[in-house]
Amino acid sequence: MTATQETPMDKHPDCIFCKIAAGEIPSRKVYEDDELFAFHDISPWAPVHFLIIPKQHIPSMASLTDADAALMGRIMTLAPQLALEQGCEPYPQGGYRIVINTGEQGGQEVHHLHVHVIGGPRPWAKG
Ligand code: ADP
Repeated sequence: MTATQETPMDKHPDCIFCKIAAGEIPSRKVYEDDELFAFHDISPWAPVHFLIIPKQHIPSMASLTDADAALMGRIMTLAPQLALEQGCEPYPQGGYRIVINTGEQGGQEVHHLHVHVIGGPRPWAKG
């Protein structure tokens, strides 16, 4: 694997999602453990729309290293569980969309890695 483009750090002083994970900015929490935090998106574009983030400040998918594999695996296995808890219907008739925008051309606006979990009856407003 290639070297990281940016160096992850535990908490970035100017990062809104670091502040949300730390409870310094209010959010509608969906889930929390030692490593992960999930909360409802402030501008949902589907009936279910929440974000899962690592508490550690990782700027984007482009910043990941092999050392982050287990953490990302945890996010990916947590997403389906939370999706059902939040009202998405089960696979295959139901389901949801998992989106990780990466970089400006990838549509990433908040530079703290986050996984969108989006679902509910279609059509949705966006996507
Ligand atoms: P995009 O806005 O194009 O989806 P991102 O993938 O970076 O870009 O997503 C950032 C998401 O964070 C947006 O869906 C936005 O609504 C959400 N968001 C921004 N600020 C907050 C906040 N304070 N609480 C909850 N969600 C937020």
